[in-house]
Amino acid sequence: MSTKTTGWNSPTSSVQVALALDIGGTTLKGAAIDTAGRTLITRTLPTGPPGEGVLHRALAILETLKTESVKRSLHPVGIGVGTPGVVNSTTGTVEYASSLGWTTMPVASRLTAQLALPVLISHDARAAGLAEAHLLPPGPGHNSVFVAIGTGVGAALITDGTVMTGATHSAGGLGHTPVIPGGETCTCGQRGCLEAYFSGAGLVRRYRSQGGDPTMTAADLASGLAGDVGARIWCEGIHALALALTTITLLTDPGTIIIGGGLSDAGDNLLHPLEQTMSSLLAWRRPPALQRSFLGVRAGQLGAAILGFRAAGFPNSGIRWSPDSVTDGSPLALGGNTSPQPIPDLREHHGRS
Ligand SMILES: [Zn+2]
Repeated sequence: MSTKTTGWNSPTSSVQVALALDIGGTTLKGAAIDTAGRTLITRTLPTGPPGEGVLHRALAILETLKTESVKRSLHPVGIGVGTPGVVNSTTGTVEYASSLGWTTMPVASRLTAQLALPVLISHDARAAGLAEAHLLPPGPGHNSVFVAIGTGVGAALITDGTVMTGATHSAGGLGHTPVIPGGETCTCGQRGCLEAYFSGAGLVRRYRSQGGDPTMTAADLASGLAGDVGARIWCEGIHALALALTTITLLTDPGTIIIGGGLSDAGDNLLHPLEQTMSSLLAWRRPPALQRSFLGVRAGQLGAAILGFRAAGFPNSGIRWSPDSVTDGSPLALGGNTSPQPIPDLREHHGRS
């Protein structure tokens, strides 16, 4: 992974922050986050149309965060970015991201040139998994799997404290793991992929193809509101997910599997049958602990903050997070002002959000 130090000066403030950016399909979510994981300043913009403009808007967010941080006597030390696509963290380049319209986009070097801070980028699911794992006790956190289940399925494999990236930067492609031999065709062209059976899009597609009510959503299926057909589709989806996670369990021996993404809102309707099915599939060992994402939609941004501190050369031990601190809504007393100040929310709404 690259650690660019161009323009990185010695800290001049006791409160050091990373500038974190989570690039999503509809929203760019930026924040200044301190070493305790507390979010001090936020700024969001719509992602907007694909292409070069996405990077311009990302730059605008980070420039504002840097300026506002300095105004509050915070010291920005590095920038971390989580983004969809095929992400080469070593070169800081997004090799390909169809949703952003990017091919060979040198994100890290462009941001460093403009903002004079070291930059580290990663795939969004890997960034989110990094943040979730950071909150686990050292044992399970060092060997865990984070699975983001939304419209599609992505994963981060954390082994001995390191997130696997793979030879072609594509590790964690759990959604396109074939789990049903000769099964239904996936959008990727393969057959029987997990995503075709258990993802927001896959569940709804299968439900409707079998005569289900077209007004029902994946959340309705998860809540048991979609009748017998919905219950069966949900059950078959859970079985597909259990097959994929059983394979991962036997390959990587994680201490914990963390389920995130929109479908994790199903809570026990997902976790209980998943645990039961995995137990029945594993003959001679217990499944690892299954737990719902703690950070939810904030995981990607907090993971980007860890990347920002790592870009600045901080060791993991220098990033002291706890479940309490990352959810701490009380602001720091900044710049010698001891009276509480509201956390600035610099959101702007340009059209869709
Ligand atoms: Zn597929």
